[in-house]
Amino acid sequence: MAKCLYCAAVGETEEHVIPAAFGEFRSAPKLPIPLCPKCNNERLNHLDQQVSRCGPEGFMRESYGIKGRAHKTKVNPFARGSAGGSRLEFSTFDREVGVEVHLEVVDGVVTQMCELILVETSMGRAHHFPLSETTTADELRGAIARKNVPAPYDVRLSCHPHEQEWVEKLLREHSPGIVFSEPKLMSHIIKTPEVKFQLSERYFRGIAKIGFHYFLSQFQAYSGHHSMFSGIRSFISEDTNEPVRRVNDFIQHRNHPLVYQMLNDEARPDGWKAHILAAEVKPGLCQAHVQIFLTQENPNLIYTVKLAHDRSLVEQEVAAHAYRYFHDGKQGSFSGEASPLPAIRVDQAFPPATPAVSA
Ligand SMILES: [Zn+2]
Repeated sequence: MAKCLYCAAVGETEEHVIPAAFGEFRSAPKLPIPLCPKCNNERLNHLDQQVSRCGPEGFMRESYGIKGRAHKTKVNPFARGSAGGSRLEFSTFDREVGVEVHLEVVDGVVTQMCELILVETSMGRAHHFPLSETTTADELRGAIARKNVPAPYDVRLSCHPHEQEWVEKLLREHSPGIVFSEPKLMSHIIKTPEVKFQLSERYFRGIAKIGFHYFLSQFQAYSGHHSMFSGIRSFISEDTNEPVRRVNDFIQHRNHPLVYQMLNDEARPDGWKAHILAAEVKPGLCQAHVQIFLTQENPNLIYTVKLAHDRSLVEQEVAAHAYRYFHDGKQGSFSGEASPLPAIRVDQAFPPATPAVSA
């Protein structure tokens, strides 16, 4: 019976390195050390949720219409946050109604969110309340009360014609006697949309977890239980109240492409999408590199995760995989295929890395 990587309990599950929400990949490396159900389903699952829903990777996952391998209730990351993280704030200025409106991506298509917007009459400041078919009048009342919007204000509604019926029913329950004028429709012209991410420590710990698990999957001579990994293990598995900048002790932005062809600015992925993971041992140091979504739009968001400093490390070894999505959708349960990358150059890193979190 093997011990869980993160605690003293017995480990039971063999885990994939990349969170389930990004799909299943044929021939994907697995973490060789099991996890106990508690660590896997609670502590680490919170990290996966943030990586797959709260950051740029979550946004791209929605934009590309990626379906996960887990059968979970669908969460709309544009409507609400996950595991303590914030929702994806995706918005544009709507000239027709003169306010900022929120957007979402539904099956890869950008569309306006269904929301109630209260606009302060004096300052013109807009407050947004996302609506869904399961929203109750009490929930809406609570949400509005918490925002404490100063009266008087104008009320605007953004919804699609097919949503109008349940939205009007909800608003009638919320404020009986409400009269609907001709619906003031939003212009539905989406220009220069902007997306805001609020990345928390859990998001970065989720990135660190992917790097650590990939490293262990490739270099099985190194046991994850070894004391040189105790720092990264506790960073990944323990919630603390320390300042978020401690993330920088473990994670940096890598400003140099992992895949050699990307050194050439002209060589952009031509419609293909992949995740790139790399791990390396060099004298005194173990580290991993994580790039979730190397795509045409995103050639360069790469993290380097410092896993261990130890003077006994003398070898030099590198391993890398590309997890490439199939062009034409899923094949059975697989979204794509993982294959080793032989020619990766992780040793050269110029321009130098920068802190993941600015102080
Ligand atoms: Zn455990």
